[in-house]
Amino acid sequence: MSAVMKTIAPRGRLRYDEPMARHTSWRVGGPARRLFEPADVDDLALFLSGLPEGEPLFWIGLGSNLLVRDGGIPGTVIMTAGLLNGMASTGQETLRVEAGVPCAKVARYAARLGLSGAEFLAGIPGTMGGALAMNAGAFGGETWTRVEQVETLDRRGRRRRRDRADYRVGYREVRGPAGEWFIAATLGLEKGETDTGGARIKALLRRRAETQPMGLASCGSVFRNPQGGHAAQLIEASGLKGLCVGAACVSEKHANFIINTGGATAADIEALIARVMEIVERVHGVRLIPEVKVVGRAAHDA
Ligand SMILES: Cc1cc2nc3c(=O)[nH]c(=O)nc-3n(C[C@H](O)[C@H](O)[C@H](O)COP(=O)(O)OP(=O)(O)OC[C@H]3O[C@@H](n4cnc5c(N)ncnc54)[C@H](O)[C@@H]3O)c2cc1C
Repeated sequence: MSAVMKTIAPRGRLRYDEPMARHTSWRVGGPARRLFEPADVDDLALFLSGLPEGEPLFWIGLGSNLLVRDGGIPGTVIMTAGLLNGMASTGQETLRVEAGVPCAKVARYAARLGLSGAEFLAGIPGTMGGALAMNAGAFGGETWTRVEQVETLDRRGRRRRRDRADYRVGYREVRGPAGEWFIAATLGLEKGETDTGGARIKALLRRRAETQPMGLASCGSVFRNPQGGHAAQLIEASGLKGLCVGAACVSEKHANFIINTGGATAADIEALIARVMEIVERVHGVRLIPEVKVVGRAAHDA
């Protein structure tokens, strides 16, 4: 019998020229040259191990903090949302959560187990991976105050376990070993009461609905809050609520939100961001810094 060499191929799905507008909460963005949806972590490691040297690589979660330009992403996008979706308690007060699990699910799961400390995640419409990359936070809670360890993959598919001390963490900012992406985190929480966790989540979601334009295409807060101040207050005090470029408009409900009111392009949104920055600086002398990540190339460069 002749020995047949079998190449192992990734089990996940690879799509070509995938419109990123389908994968971002602003509903804008040109095509990714390739988009990979892994079957699981091992499958992703296998896919990465076969990636050509020099191939641009970009990871996304739920695209809720991303402005992908209209010319798209000239490289390979790795999608985690709902794909790297393992979540389990690993001790009395610890959870292991994979990168693609939506933050809201983590909050509800912890509350059901009677663990407190993850409630703030309930209203953040991203994944655990995105929350780790951004140090996402709300109502006084921050992702990295709960991180004990993370697991990462590099572009060759090598897996590592890292401690919190390997990362420098600040407000909406995380710096760690270059060339690694998050595949999971171990979160440390505290024993609480099952019913109080659920009640806190409801209260936080209610507060959010009162102050933020829910259900509209946005990416949440566009700008970081400057030291000692609020970006929303500066924008509102500059008279910019309702300002539009094309179909991209500064929200009337929360001035730090930009809404795609229907048919906006990434170029419209980027131009509105620049306009808001220019006017706020002129009026208040404060240079706002965008919190959203702007990626890809402009339509005229594609
Ligand atoms: C209505 C609304 C409300 C919001 N409210 C809040 C809020 O209260 N607090 C807050 O902090 N944010 C808020 N956001 C912003 C956003 O939800 C968070 O920044 C979230 O953490 C982004 O997660 P994501 O999975 O969508 O990441 P994406 O937008 O997909 O990616 C964001 C960044 O993370 C990187 N990334 C994603 N996954 C990984 C990974 N596995 N490994 C390494 N890097 C990765 C991406 O490359 C990119 O640079 C809000 C957004 C919206 C639309």
